[in-house]
Amino acid sequence: MDHVARVRRLQSALPEAKLDLLLITHLPNLRYLCGFTGSAGALLVCRDGAVLFTDGRYKTQAREEVRNARIVIGKQSAVLAAAERVAVSDHDTKRGGRGLPALGIEGEWMSAGMRDRVASALRGKARVRSAPPLVERARMVKDAEEVRLIRNAVELGASLFAVARQTIEPGVSELAVAAAMEYEARSQGAEGMSFPTIIASGERSAMIHGRASEARIPRRGFVVCDFGIILAGYCSDRTRTVHVGRASSEAREFYGAVLAAQQAAIAAVRPGVTASEVDAAARNVLRRRKLARYFTHSTGHGLGLEIHEAPRVADGQAQTLEAGMVITIEPGAYVAGQWGVRIEDVVVVTASGCEVLTPADKQLVVI
Ligand code: ZN
Ligand code: ZN
Repeated sequence: MDHVARVRRLQSALPEAKLDLLLITHLPNLRYLCGFTGSAGALLVCRDGAVLFTDGRYKTQAREEVRNARIVIGKQSAVLAAAERVAVSDHDTKRGGRGLPALGIEGEWMSAGMRDRVASALRGKARVRSAPPLVERARMVKDAEEVRLIRNAVELGASLFAVARQTIEPGVSELAVAAAMEYEARSQGAEGMSFPTIIASGERSAMIHGRASEARIPRRGFVVCDFGIILAGYCSDRTRTVHVGRASSEAREFYGAVLAAQQAAIAAVRPGVTASEVDAAARNVLRRRKLARYFTHSTGHGLGLEIHEAPRVADGQAQTLEAGMVITIEPGAYVAGQWGVRIEDVVVVTASGCEVLTPADKQLVVI
């Protein structure tokens, strides 16, 4: 990971954002910029350097992981230690009398209470401003190393579907299916799951986020399996919907409609199209089959160090896709009290279209 170049790019974006300093407190952003994986820390980025503040628990780890920032081990909150450092440094004089320096914070990730404490720790020596999402924007486009890590995560994550297929049968609880998948994930080297595994069977398949419950797999009906793992910091995400017992022609048609929508959206992915256009490609297929009203969520999301990150693949999203972006394509349709189907793959945007990273077999599996 070229952390040096990442911080440099961020520093060069500070003048345009009218910031003299930027305080990074969102841990995935911190990891992206300097490699630190601890659970408490703050990275102060100045126009000419960077300082990582953390506490004694992470003394050894910070020294091992971080090469491109000075490390300060403190006894108190890393965020406040960083603010106090700003208050006693000479940024004011360096500005040649242009008024108080501006300290950018990640407003989306900081509580109002912490923002107040940061402001008072600055003791009038700098102004606090919410910074634009500079790091989130940079993170949208993955470099080759990140794509490789995501590919590895997706490969391991996808293999859990085989466990689901072996475990799902009438009478088994959804939790037992999730447990078998999660045990396999950890056994294969995953650091953890990227979100609580969704196993939603029978009528529960209409719940978009139907986390695995004590409900038993019924003798007949869809089972939505949505699962992801974290490997070397990067997330995977995949959904497959299987059918237990004989699938009626109506069920097959419903599944086929969602699959057609998913394939249309994948076919629409290429550099230059907007996220909204990809969403529309899926939605239009379902609209033609009079199922659009059952597709009640967005088509996908970026993924990387976090399971949900920019860009959002949804109606009204003007963000254009660029080569190197990694997004999910996951349309679904849900009829409350009856059933639901979702199919999800991870794709990387390439120079001419996209590459699907998840295995492509998507014909309806009947168990
Ligand atoms: Zn997803
Ligand atoms: Zn998912």
